[in-house]
Order: sequence, then structure tokens, then C-alpha cells
Amino acid sequence: MSALPELIKQSSYCVALTGAGISTLSGIPDFRGRNGIYQKFDSTKIFDLDYFLSDPSYYYTVSKDFIYNIDNMIPNIIHKELSRLESIGVIKSVITQNIDLLHTRAGSKKVFELHGSPVNHTCLNCGKRFDFQTIAAIVNSNKVPYCTKCNGIVKPDIIFFGESLDTQTLDNAINECIKADLILALGTSLVVQPAASLPMYCIRKGGTLIIVNDTETPLDTYAYRRYPDLETTFNEICGLI
Ligand code: ZN
Repeated sequence: MSALPELIKQSSYCVALTGAGISTLSGIPDFRGRNGIYQKFDSTKIFDLDYFLSDPSYYYTVSKDFIYNIDNMIPNIIHKELSRLESIGVIKSVITQNIDLLHTRAGSKKVFELHGSPVNHTCLNCGKRFDFQTIAAIVNSNKVPYCTKCNGIVKPDIIFFGESLDTQTLDNAINECIKADLILALGTSLVVQPAASLPMYCIRKGGTLIIVNDTETPLDTYAYRRYPDLETTFNEICGLI
């Protein structure tokens, strides 16, 4: 185990790639796991653009507990440690598949959110923008937000199924992986694109991949080391870097 803190310390450009697994410690269910959001709710509706346009209330009702109820969503040791490691110059950036805002709330500065984020919402009719706090207050009072200017549908800036990823964010994430000599893939099953292929930009250039995840991933054979448990691994790192 002592090898991992050394690897991180000796790296010149370490990038973290994070998935839903790191937020389950904060009580946020993952999407595809056994107790995941997609087991409980209809995955073809929650983040589907066409469905959202026909009935935005489904998204706002279902996502209230894991997106808007931030009092119940506290950054955990993984978010905090990644933020601390960035502040001392060890981690250069975080690329995340998560939409829970926990990296930025933990203090991480350079965060690339591949699937967008609910930090802003946009009226699909007139383009008026609404910040997270405004929308969260409406959603937490069990109402569906509509545009205050034109009564249009207000959508979070999360990438829904049926929408393209933001090309600038994706380009930035790829560039980070090309620059990286060490990638920490944390709590991601590495099956959803583009996250699944991002570590390969680092590996092809001779960089090192470390995977910490409780299930197998398609990139396990490329990993220099893999560890099953995030909390144990980060408790170790905490005291040693
Ligand atoms: Zn509007």
C-alpha cells in the first residue's frame, strides 16, 4: 500500500478521474449499481431530453434527493483529500462524471465536469439563466421551476441523453490526460464513454493508471495497480502525502 502515496508524490502531473463510486460515501446512490438510481427510477426518463421536454416534473421530483437537497450531500474524505492534494500542487485537475457538485464544494478548483452540472439552469425558451440556489429552493418546496420571464421550461446544464457532450470540456479533459503521467481512476467502472477511454491517452504515452473501484473495469489489465476500497485507500494516502 505504501507504493501508492510514493507514486502520487513522485508524479509530475497527476490527474484524478472520478465517478459515482466516490459519492456513495456521501450517501448519494450511484446510477448503475445494485441500489442505484436506475434500479429505483426509470433511466429512460430521468435524464432523457425528449421525456424532460414533455414532462420536466419527473426529473425535478426524482432528482430532488440526490441533486438539490444539498444539506444531505456533504463532501467526503475522497473529495476533501483531492482538494487538499490540488492545493499543495500534487493533483493538477479532476475530471468527473458526477453531477453532484461535491468536488467544487470540497474546494477543488480545476474540475472538468464531463456530464455538465446543475450549478446553472437555462430557460429553453428565452435563454434566461438561473443559479443552483434559486432552483434548489423551488425544487425543495416540491414545485417544478419554470422561467420567471416567459414561463418556459427550465433545464439544468446537465448533459441529458439525447444531447452532445460539451466539446470544450471534453477537449480540456483529453488534454489533461495527455499531459498526465499518473491517472487515478476513482469510483468509476470505466464503461461509460468518454470517461472509459480517457485513461488511454495517458497510457499510450507511457503514463501510469491506478484504479480504485469496488468492481472490475475493462481497463484493469492496463492498470499498474488496482485497489478495491476507496475509503481505506484514501485513509492511507491522507497521512502520507
Ligand atoms: Zn424564459
